[in-house]
Amino acid sequence: TNGFLAGVVLVVCKTDPNQGARGTSILIVETEGCEGFRVGRVLDKMGMKSQDTSELFFTDVKVPAENLLGGKEGQGFYQLMGDLPYERLIIGVSAVACMEGAYAATLDYVRERKAFGQTVADFQNTKFKLAEVATQITVGRAFIDHCVNLLVAGKLDTATASMAKLWGAETQGKVLDELLQLHGGYGFMNEYMVTRMYADARVQRIYGGTSEIMKEVISRAL
Ligand SMILES: Cc1cc2nc3c(=O)[nH]c(=O)nc-3n(C[C@H](O)[C@H](O)[C@H](O)COP(=O)(O)OP(=O)(O)OC[C@H]3O[C@@H](n4cnc5c(N)ncnc54)[C@H](O)[C@@H]3O)c2cc1C
Repeated sequence: TNGFLAGVVLVVCKTDPNQGARGTSILIVETEGCEGFRVGRVLDKMGMKSQDTSELFFTDVKVPAENLLGGKEGQGFYQLMGDLPYERLIIGVSAVACMEGAYAATLDYVRERKAFGQTVADFQNTKFKLAEVATQITVGRAFIDHCVNLLVAGKLDTATASMAKLWGAETQGKVLDELLQLHGGYGFMNEYMVTRMYADARVQRIYGGTSEIMKEVISRAL
């Protein structure tokens, strides 16, 4: 993410291949004028168009010893684990924010669009779909806000953060699908925000650890 423009890249690498997790370290690579560092293709994604995702190559790159993150070798895995709850919660927060934004845009749209002599908002199906979405968002926000409070208090554990990511990403996908449907044909056109939000939502179940990995993590804590 943002690799095309990045001036600093944190590289997770094996500093002792015989040590498993304890043989992993994070190196800070400053990319400007860095010999052996190369940006490859900017990848063509189905969504998230405003942010680049790039291939990065590190061929015999050398960094000064002080660029070892934390100053101690073999800490990479634990440093990653320490920040994963934060990253997973960010995805949960963005899922709720996306659902709220798409819901507001859809409310405006269905109240304006007329079909068969009435607004789309007047159909019972539309009311029921929007009632379901509003309920999902309200319940979800309460849980995500609870997780934010835990994070601020330094008490957000990995399993709970994984629930926030899993639930947020999965619900976002379902909710965006329903909201797009209420836009009819316009819902397939990129000029509509809900369409772009639908495309952007898909990756939420993949990056930051897939939904399947979230279930693995949660099940280990049961
Ligand atoms: C837009 C975008 C931006 C990204 N940005 C970054 C970034 O900035 N930094 C970074 O490090 N990474 C980044 N990633 C990588 C991302 O985190 C990985 O793609 C993601 O974690 C999945 O790993 P993978 O692609 O290797 O899938 P794989 O591990 O190959 O998974 C393939 C399938 O197998 C399933 N699977 C794998 N293991 C298991 C298991 N144990 N049990 C059950 N099912 C399993 C997966 O859930 C998935 O369905 C980005 C990806 C995308 C798409």
